[in-house]
Amino acid sequence: MTEEAPAAVCDTLIRNGYLITMDTQRAVYACGAVAINGNAIVAVGRDADIAARFRPRRVIDAKGGVIHPGFIDCHCHVAIHLSRGIIPDHPTPQAAPFSFADWTNHLEDEDEHIQAQIVGLEMLRHGYTFFLEPGTVYEPDAAAAAAESVGVRAGLADPYMWDVSGGPQSRPSTTRRIPNDAKRAFKVLGGQLARNKDPDALVRGHVAIYGACYSSESLMRAAKDCADAHGVTFTMHHNFDQDDAKIVDERYGGVHNMVYFAKRGLLGPNCLYVHMNIIRDDEIPVILDSGMSLVWQPGNSMYYKINANFKPRIPELIERGCNVAFGVDAAKIWTFGDLELLGYLDASQHGHYISAARIMEMRTVHAAHAVGLSHMIGSIESGKRADIVIRSVDVPEILPGANPIQELLLSGHRATASTVLVDGRLVFLDGRSTQVDQNTVIAAGRAMARRVLDRAGYIPRLPWTVVN
Ligand SMILES: [Zn+2]
Repeated sequence: MTEEAPAAVCDTLIRNGYLITMDTQRAVYACGAVAINGNAIVAVGRDADIAARFRPRRVIDAKGGVIHPGFIDCHCHVAIHLSRGIIPDHPTPQAAPFSFADWTNHLEDEDEHIQAQIVGLEMLRHGYTFFLEPGTVYEPDAAAAAAESVGVRAGLADPYMWDVSGGPQSRPSTTRRIPNDAKRAFKVLGGQLARNKDPDALVRGHVAIYGACYSSESLMRAAKDCADAHGVTFTMHHNFDQDDAKIVDERYGGVHNMVYFAKRGLLGPNCLYVHMNIIRDDEIPVILDSGMSLVWQPGNSMYYKINANFKPRIPELIERGCNVAFGVDAAKIWTFGDLELLGYLDASQHGHYISAARIMEMRTVHAAHAVGLSHMIGSIESGKRADIVIRSVDVPEILPGANPIQELLLSGHRATASTVLVDGRLVFLDGRSTQVDQNTVIAAGRAMARRVLDRAGYIPRLPWTVVN
């Protein structure tokens, strides 16, 4: 554009921030700006250059704070999010007096809605704008309405797709509301994809089964075929621990199960398998050759001491080019923003180094690829949707400001987001939701947890006497 060209009108101009674009060149602007029209980014660059080109209806001054693409969580069970603190912090599930199944068996639709709202608010505080839910919300419409109400993106799948009982004893393979049932699973398969008819939908559909342990090969194949036919992600839990891997290996003739799945055409670029704490030597090449993505949840691997008995292979796969992203999973003793640090330490403990810059890619562009939405989200580039986070500059945890990526993702992995736009809409300003009354939602979350505990007849115990 020449200097004489008249300035164009745009809806929003974000100015004066340390702009980490995550575009293909990984461009960073020490003082950058982003112009937005409607839900799309229309220009990105040096503040002085962009400001000269646009006459904005609204200016957001980042005041020198970091601007980055909205982070993407690739595996979040929103309907069990508020069971944290209720399910005891003991890593032996058999010893726990209250389980995830006890929680989900007492949920009503309203409880799922409130938890998803809490998840949305919590995400925004930590700079997240998208969660992928792996098919464990009984009423997806409740979670969809909640995500829309707080203004975050979500990916939802058909609930509890499982048709085989007998998974590991430590985790549920059935719930009271949705038992293992092949007839039902095949009937509802792909139902959530109707959300994708609207290209501007904030909440989209993908395909999930609960996991290979809990599904017949025919259900797994039908789900993969459905995802292929509709160009969406196919996700499932897989190889969480050695019990999981053993069950699936034995079911499919004793070969290591990822080798079997590769032979059967059940791996591919749209596959997103979650956990993968057990990966054997002969499974490494088939994972790499398939072009699939993995969700790494290093918290679980450490919490259950899986990594003490079986060396995690995901750091090695990251080094070899596998597309890996993070997921909160169930928020047992962590939440959004914690997994980067845990992953960094887990990798380090096992002889690998994953840089903060790589972790930034895993939270943005790699995660967008994993959820099949690279064309829309994951970077700040012209033509992409305006999912943009501005961090506060006035918090000590992200000082000194000399290496903003490392400070933001490792030492300062805190709720430091100040302002967030999703799909061009300002949904979070000065640390508060602009869409809902934050205090009302938080109070509803607290009351909801009490209701579920009342229904379940369970009182969490402290080791000390509580005086009422
Ligand atoms: Zn999970």
